[in-house]
Order: sequence, then structure tokens, then C-alpha cells
Amino acid sequence: MSDTQDHIIQEKPLSHNSSAAAGQVDLIGLSRQELEESVIRFGLPKFRAKQIWHWLYHRGAKSLEEMTTLSLRVRDKLAEDCFIGRPGVANEQLSEDNTRKWLLAIPGGGEVETVFIPERDRGALCISSQVGCALSCKFCHTGTQPLLRNLTAADIVGQVMIARDTYGEWPSPRGGRLLSNIVMMGMGEPLLNFDNVAKALNIIMDQEGISISKRRITLSTAGYVPNMKRCGEELNVNLAVSLHAVRDELRDEIVPLNKKFPIKELLDACRAYPGSNNARRITFEYVMLKGINDSESDARELVRLMSGIPAKINLIPFNAWPGAPFECSSGATINRFSEIVNNAGYSAPVRVPRGRDIMAACGQLKSASERSKRKSQETTPTNSCGRSANPYTARAFPINS
Ligand code: SF4
Repeated sequence: MSDTQDHIIQEKPLSHNSSAAAGQVDLIGLSRQELEESVIRFGLPKFRAKQIWHWLYHRGAKSLEEMTTLSLRVRDKLAEDCFIGRPGVANEQLSEDNTRKWLLAIPGGGEVETVFIPERDRGALCISSQVGCALSCKFCHTGTQPLLRNLTAADIVGQVMIARDTYGEWPSPRGGRLLSNIVMMGMGEPLLNFDNVAKALNIIMDQEGISISKRRITLSTAGYVPNMKRCGEELNVNLAVSLHAVRDELRDEIVPLNKKFPIKELLDACRAYPGSNNARRITFEYVMLKGINDSESDARELVRLMSGIPAKINLIPFNAWPGAPFECSSGATINRFSEIVNNAGYSAPVRVPRGRDIMAACGQLKSASERSKRKSQETTPTNSCGRSANPYTARAFPINS
């Protein structure tokens, strides 16, 4: 048994607690307005929607039976028409540093990873927006996977529900919660699934429910410029940009989306990002790749590019996976890079890798799970699971206070 397998605390056949019959509606992922419309359609008065919302997102109810402020008659009526969905936990791992990673089976098909990175008195939950990713960033394990589908709002909110279930953070605590921040840095490009992401984040931010403030939510994009303005205007969450290179020739290669939206266009969109200022800086993620993007002249060019942008730069030691095409820069090189950027007046912390013993870079658990399934198929022909392999990213998870 490998070290990684030592940390597996749950591995089981996929299961969902959504006992959906045909035509039933999943209450999770409906906007407030959609919930009101549904309740009226079910033949109940509109005010029931507010009670249901409270049970779903403040109390964390997993079943209609738990909603004890609703009469038995109302609960029976609801049970005919709707259910409360959750993703199934296909695999769960806990790192030596308490980073926790779930491989979640999404009710509509597909698996995604969700990672919780705790600090002493708070923590960031990294959630996914798509099953796989079409953007094929070369340093990213998920980029080796095909895009299978966009996640729905229910799939995205469901990741938060699972984490809250795990840490017993129901009812929503007013302060001092461990699960304090959300980062959309998991599998997929969130701005290519904007409508579902926006709907989910509005549910997550709702003050009568999960109530995580927009100031504690960071959306990370590889640079899909057309939806950046909308993101700032409609959600006003913190923005992180996967930059990783300072010249178009290299960025075209390692972040192929750059061919459509080159560095100048991307940075102009950052300068115009609604709500950014010196107190709310845009985070630029820069993965340190040995001999590729880590020279002193790269650092100086990075400083030049940041001109006019309220920016901070996260330097991320590359978290290699078996067969990865890059190596991580040396500690001395990373420190020198950081020093140059810092001396120019930009914060450039070197992120400490978390959860390495459980492969916490995006997609690696999923790939390991697929390999294990394939191996099991070879030896056990009756195993019916036959999904294609899908890996994930090497990114850091900022926690904004
Ligand atoms: S870094 Fe993000 S956008 Fe790029 S391939 Fe990975 S998941 Fe997709």
C-alpha cells in the first residue's frame, strides 16, 4: 500500500443522498426566486420558500423530515415534488497537515475534486466549476483531462455543503468558522461557466444562509477576458489571474487561452476590473517552472507589466505529478524572484505547498482514482466503472481576510 493510500479515509461505491424520482426538483441550487416559484408550483404559499431556504442553507438540512417548523402535511407535499441533493463522496483523503480532499461524484455524471486547506483558526475551500477543462494549461494536471461538462449551480453549492457537513458547521456560525473562505480554483475555468458559477456564489453569499462574504471569495481565471467585467460587476468577488508567464510566446504555450486573449488584453481587463483597489488587490498566480519562466529578467518584466494594477503576486512552487513536463525552480531561484518583485513594491509571497502527501494539486486524486479503477478492471472484469482518466492543477489557495 502506498503512502497516499494510507491516508484514504473513505473509498466506496458512488452514492448520492438524492433519492430523486422522475420529475422531482432538487432544492439545492435554486435561486431564491426559483425556490419561491417552485413552492408556489407545489401548491404552497410563497412564505414557505423562506423557511425552506433557512433549513437548507442555515441549518444544513439533508432531508425534508428535518424541517420541523414545517407541518407534516407540508413536508409530505414537498416530498412528492422535490428532494435535497448532495454530491456523493467517492473518495476522501486527509493530509498530515490536515488538508482534506474529496473526490465527489456529481449526480448528473462526472467526478470533481474539492480541497479544504485549514489554517489555525480559518480555512479556504477550493471548489471546482467544470468536470475536466478545455483550456489545457501545460503545468496543470486537470489540463490533461477533456472537458466533460459544466457543473450546475447545485453541483457547485453541493461542494460547500459536503465540506460544511464534514466540519459540522451547521447552523451557519456567526463568526469563528473554520470554513471561512472560498476559492474557485479547482477543476475548470469558472468564467467559461459563468451563469452557473454566479448563481452558486449568490447562494453561498446569501446572508440568510451560508453567508460567506464576497470579500472572502476569490475567483481564479486563466484569463477569459469577456466575462471578467461581468464577474466584477455582478459578483464583486476577489479576482485571481493565472498569469505564469510574462511574454506572449511562452504564455501561448503554457496557457493556450493566451492565443485568444494575449497578455496586454488580459492586463487591460485587470486594470478595469470593477472594485479592485489597493485594499482589494488582484492576485496574480505565477507557478515557478525551472528554466522556463523563473529568470531575473522574467521577474523584472513581471514588475513592468503590473504597472497601474493593484496587484499582489503569489509565487507557487510547481507541484509535479508523475510524467509532468516541468520541474520546480530551486528554492534560491524562487527567493531571488520574490526579492526582485518585493523590492519593486509588490507583495510576492512564496506559497507553501499543502497536502502534498495526498496529491492536493488539482486533479491528481481523480487521476489516481482512475488509475486504481483501471487496474481493478484489469484484474476484476466485472467491475463496471470505465471512466476516462482526468487530472488537475498546481495552484495555490489564497486566504483573504
Ligand atoms: S489551470 Fe485552470 S484553466 Fe488551466 S487547464 Fe487547469 S483547470 Fe483549466
